[in-house]
Amino acid sequence: MLLQKEKQYKGDKLYMGKKVLFVASECTPFVKTGGLADVIGSLPQALQQTENIDVSVMLPLYQEIWDNWQNQLTKINSLPLNVGWRKHDATIYHTTHQGIPFYFIKNDYYFSRHGVYGYEDDGERYLFFCQAVMEALKVIDFEADILHAHDWQAGLAIAFANITPPTKQLKTVFTIHNIKYQGILLKDAYADLFNISDEHIGGLEWDGLLNCMKSGIFHADKITTVSPTYAEEITFPFYGEGLDSIIRERKNDVIGILNGIDLNDYNPNTDPHLNTKYSYSRIKKKENKEILQKKLGLKVDPEIPMYVMITRLVEQKGLHLVQAILDEFLNENVQFVLLGTGDYEFENFFYHAEKRNKEKLVSYLGFDEALARQIYASGDFFVMPSLFEPCGLSQLIALQYKTVPIVRETGGLKDTVTPFNEYSLEGNGFSFKNYNAHELLEQLKYSLSIYQNEEKWQALLKNVNKSYYSWDDSAHAYADLYHELHQA
Ligand code: ADP
Repeated sequence: MLLQKEKQYKGDKLYMGKKVLFVASECTPFVKTGGLADVIGSLPQALQQTENIDVSVMLPLYQEIWDNWQNQLTKINSLPLNVGWRKHDATIYHTTHQGIPFYFIKNDYYFSRHGVYGYEDDGERYLFFCQAVMEALKVIDFEADILHAHDWQAGLAIAFANITPPTKQLKTVFTIHNIKYQGILLKDAYADLFNISDEHIGGLEWDGLLNCMKSGIFHADKITTVSPTYAEEITFPFYGEGLDSIIRERKNDVIGILNGIDLNDYNPNTDPHLNTKYSYSRIKKKENKEILQKKLGLKVDPEIPMYVMITRLVEQKGLHLVQAILDEFLNENVQFVLLGTGDYEFENFFYHAEKRNKEKLVSYLGFDEALARQIYASGDFFVMPSLFEPCGLSQLIALQYKTVPIVRETGGLKDTVTPFNEYSLEGNGFSFKNYNAHELLEQLKYSLSIYQNEEKWQALLKNVNKSYYSWDDSAHAYADLYHELHQA
């Protein structure tokens, strides 16, 4: 670990004047559906502050952003793009937020819609976005040295930058936040529509279809993913979602860099959403629990251990395991709070599970940032038994709010949660290995026994208090990667 002073010096020397453009589909505080938004909202600042790297961010201008931020946006330019026989304008807007320049691509046909994803033409929407990014690069006041694109929605920006460099030959980094979502389109129709020549279609194609995730992986100079364990896992078919062979081909250029969180933002001592702020005090955590119990209609008793989940309701998050054992676990003297939205199967399950267990379970089906913070602050345990988890930010946020994570040993969960050992008193959570509901139930019950043993529980909380996952080390790893690219 370098001292801050040495780090600064290294930063000045190596990266002075280097500019990195982030391209992504969501970013806090503008628009968020999951952890990607947290990363894009906090990593640029960490790179700027700790590594002296100039970062700008480019995003689509969704209706939600327009509604909430239009007074702060300045129009820069309007660029006409051809999409087959149609003409579409990409209008570029700009603002600066907390020292970071943001550029937005506005096109009402593609982006003035409710929410962010989930439309039949999502592939086409982001194909358009990536083409617009290339044109925008020619006119914005930010001459990037590195194009750093995130997930499938930005994958084609990497491909286009490689095939037809927009200004100068950019170096490119592609970060895989989740390889399951790939952005797949009918090849011939879209190659025609967006004028992609036969010569270049091979790099964008996978299994006879146009695949945006594969395009990014194939064309990027370097590929990162969001934890060392996930970087290893996606070389195998089980986790590689059909792209494991190309990951293996590019293995020497793939690196796992663990995500961090913004410790100023996720801070129970200053969080504006909490009625009672706290740092290490369990007593105040209990006050938060009491307030939440009242708010959600649960029995008000801060001594009852509270298990919580805040999650997208999709298979990835281990919900089949929860389905299998929740009723049995609720025979214990516990409360369970679920905040989530997603697939009908799971929304339906939690809706009915709450009806069966009214005294003990609350299923809040929706997306609510303020409530999420109150739940992190009130829970004793954060349950995250994912089938796979590229990094996972929720367990990092939970640790910040002194909520003990219970996780499956996969991806970033494995890299950030160490199982508590009641004899050596080491470890900051609970974990299990196999994707098996009884292993989850066993850990839930085991965690309860530790909660009931004051001495062991305090030892565990002490370890949780010491678990910080800031951006510092990760920002440094990205800076090293950018530097390496410019040496090449
Ligand atoms: P993923 O990106 O796969 O959804 P992460 O754990 O990396 O999972 O990040 C999830 C982020 O979204 C966290 O900040 C979490 O608190 C937040 N989140 C998830 N579901 C909800 C919800 N229903 N309401 C509010 N915040 C949510």
